[in-house]
Amino acid sequence: DACRKEIYQLKVVDDALMEKLYREREYHRALHDAIEKDHVEVFYQPIYDSKCELFTMAEALVRIRDPKLGLLFPDTFISIAEKDGTILGLGKIVFRKVCRFIREHDLDALGIQAIEVNLSPIQCRHRFLAEDYLKIAEEYGIDLNNIVFEITESATVGVARMGKMMQQLQKAGARFALDDYGTGYSNMINVMSLPFYCIKIDKSLVWSYFRHEDWILPKFVQIFKDDSLTIVAEGAETKDMTDGLIEMGCDYVQGFYYSKPVEEKVFLEFLKSHNETRKE
Ligand code: C2E
Ligand code: MG
Ligand code: MG
Ligand code: MG
Repeated sequence: DACRKEIYQLKVVDDALMEKLYREREYHRALHDAIEKDHVEVFYQPIYDSKCELFTMAEALVRIRDPKLGLLFPDTFISIAEKDGTILGLGKIVFRKVCRFIREHDLDALGIQAIEVNLSPIQCRHRFLAEDYLKIAEEYGIDLNNIVFEITESATVGVARMGKMMQQLQKAGARFALDDYGTGYSNMINVMSLPFYCIKIDKSLVWSYFRHEDWILPKFVQIFKDDSLTIVAEGAETKDMTDGLIEMGCDYVQGFYYSKPVEEKVFLEFLKSHNETRKE
């Protein structure tokens, strides 16, 4: 009987493992199809500017619309793309779509100052990242003043290489935000020696503050303010959280309370109803 139980348990583990492998393979397939067949989409999440009381920024977030699996979120395919190198191509596709968006719409009229674009550490390590992105921006006639690149500082990218890449893009007008602050990745000494104008506080740190009322978040906010860095808090899901973050001194707030990341069309409608009515 014990033996039968063990065999049964082994089979359960086996099935779970097989299913996991199968799912991984399907995501891999969907990722490669997406790049080849243009199933990549860019969603936009508006970011609230507490000083202007308008949504003056937005983050571009990649999605894959797979005919078989439906809408896929980055947690299913970014790590695969980073492992097999497709992140380089995927990143450029996303950037092209953002450039196309900026060219097609009058950002000033929408009330948007810049779109934030994520760069993975793998992309940052790539020698021609700056050249490639400058070329794309030029191809679309985009002013890089309209772009903020979000970078997660991870130990694997050398500060020298990172600094050079950032300088190249900065010269053309781009700005840089340190993403995922508080997830344990950032080495502040390295970070402070790089030209970031903005710190994005990760939602995990925001949530832990509102769960335990700890002192860490307000302290960080104070330190960054003393350093004249712009602060964006991520993951605000309620009015209380939003109000609390603004009161603490966060310059910008991003979260489901205002809007989830949405398709381009819905994003434009959101801006129409929120940025225009406030201006009068
Ligand atoms: P991230 O750059 O830190 O982006 C913020 C993530 O937090 C987004 O998830 C967004 O939907 C989510 N978020 C924002 N506010 C809230 C909230 O109030 N509640 C909750 N529960 N979540 C919130 P998403 O779109 O699933 O993206 C996950 C990650 O995938 C991103 O984290 C980023 O690291 C990566 N990613 C997304 N797009 C790209 C891309 O184009 N290129 C690269 N390299 N990475 C990307
Ligand atoms: Mg980001
Ligand atoms: Mg973030
Ligand atoms: Mg994050």
